[in-house]
Amino acid sequence: MIAEVISIGDELTSGQRLDTNSQWLSERLGELGVRVMYHSTVADDLAANVAVFRHAVQRADIVVASGGLGPTADDLTREAIAEVAGKPLILDEASLEYIRGLFARFKRDMPERNRVQALFPEGSQIIFNPNGTAPGIWIDIPRTAGGVCHVFALPGVPAELFEMFKATVAPAVLSYQDVPRLIRHYRVKVFGAGESHVEQMLPDLIRRGREPSVGITVSAATITLRITASGATPEECLAMIDPTVGTIRECLGNLVYGDEDDELEDAVVRLLKSHSKTLCTVEYATAGIMAEWLSRASAREECYLGGHVIRSTAMLESELGDSASLIQSAGPSSREVVETLASICRARSGADYCLVVGPFPEPTAADPAPPYHFALATPDKIMVKASNMAGHNSIWLPRAAKAALNLLRLELLGAMH
Ligand code: AMP
Ligand code: MG
Repeated sequence: MIAEVISIGDELTSGQRLDTNSQWLSERLGELGVRVMYHSTVADDLAANVAVFRHAVQRADIVVASGGLGPTADDLTREAIAEVAGKPLILDEASLEYIRGLFARFKRDMPERNRVQALFPEGSQIIFNPNGTAPGIWIDIPRTAGGVCHVFALPGVPAELFEMFKATVAPAVLSYQDVPRLIRHYRVKVFGAGESHVEQMLPDLIRRGREPSVGITVSAATITLRITASGATPEECLAMIDPTVGTIRECLGNLVYGDEDDELEDAVVRLLKSHSKTLCTVEYATAGIMAEWLSRASAREECYLGGHVIRSTAMLESELGDSASLIQSAGPSSREVVETLASICRARSGADYCLVVGPFPEPTAADPAPPYHFALATPDKIMVKASNMAGHNSIWLPRAAKAALNLLRLELLGAMH
C-alpha cells in the first residue's frame, strides 16, 4: 500500500509556517507499514485543492490530508473532497449539536459560520475530534483503474491531528492490510570516527535488502545507525532489532555512546553521576555550547558545576593570572595555554574534572585548517588533544565541543589508560 500526505494552507505554501504535520504523519504511516510515496502542499484555493485530491486519489491507496477544515471562507477541504468524490455535502445533525455544545460550554452562541463544520460529503464517515470544533472526514473514493482510495481529512492543528490519527486513522490503515506489517526503528549513536570508517567496521550490516536494515547518517560528526525492522507486532520488530544492536556494539565498542535521543552530554552526565564526580568547563571557542548542552542534560543533577565562556584576551589573561605571559610566549591557541587553563580552573572550581576548548586560531592561506587544542584536567593528570578546523565552519563549534565531551566520556569509561 502506498500513501500520499496532503498539507493544506496558505501559511504553508507562503513559507510562513513549516509543514510539520507531513513529517509526523509520514513517520506514523511508515510505522504502520505503509510507504509514503508523495507529499503535496497546496494553498487555500478550491480549484488547486480539487486538482491535488483528484491526482492523489488515482495514484495512492491512502490519502491523509491536514488543514482547511475550519469554519472560515478559506477552509475548503470539505468542498474539494465532495467535488472529487462527486457527492453533495450533507448536514450531520449530531455533529452540529456537538459543535453547538462546545460553544455552550464556554457560554457562547455558535456563530452561523461554524455550521459548515457539520457538513460532510454523502457516504463519508465522521472522524470524531475530542479537542476542537473541526471533525475529520473519512471517505472511500473509487478510482478509474478500479478499487478505492481511502481518504482521511484531519484538522491542521497538530495536537488535534495527532489524537484523531491515533484513534481513528491508524486502526483503519492496519485493517486495510491482509497481513499487518508494523515498522519499528531503533537508533544507535556513535562518535569518534568518520562515517566510512564506521561503515567498514560493520561487517555487511549496511547492505541493501538486509533484514533488519541498517542506515547510517551523520550530523555534526555524530553518527546515527538506524535499524529498521518490520513484523506483525512491536515486540516481534524489537526482537529482530536486538541482535543487530548487539553486533553493532560488539564491532564499534566505545565508539557507541548511547541510543535513541541520547547526545554525548547525556552520556557524560550519566557517567559523572554513576562515578559521583563533578565537572566544570571553559570555552574560548565554542560560544558556550558545552555549557548549554551540559546544563540541559544535567537539569536536576549537581554533577555539572558550571562554566566560563571567554570572548576576549583580557578575560583569558585574567583567568590565567600569573601564567598570562603564556599568551604572548606560546600563543593564545597553544597547547600550553589550554593545558594551564584546565589546571587553574579545575583547582579554582573544586570540580573533579575540567574540560577546556581553547581558541580557534585564524585560518590563513598557508594553513587553511590550523589545529586548535582541547584539554581535560582530572584529579591526577591533564590531557591535551589537538584537532583540525577542517570542514565547513558551521560544524567547527559543535564538533570541537563534542570532541571534548568525548574525551571526558572515554576517561570516565577508563578507556584512556
Ligand atoms: P486549519 O485546520 O487549516 O485551520 O489549520 C489550523 C492551524 O493548524 C493553522 O493555523 C496552523 O497553525 C496549523 N497547521 C495547519 N497545517 C499545518 C501543518 N501542515 N503543519 C503544522 N501546522 C499546521
Ligand atoms: Mg487553514
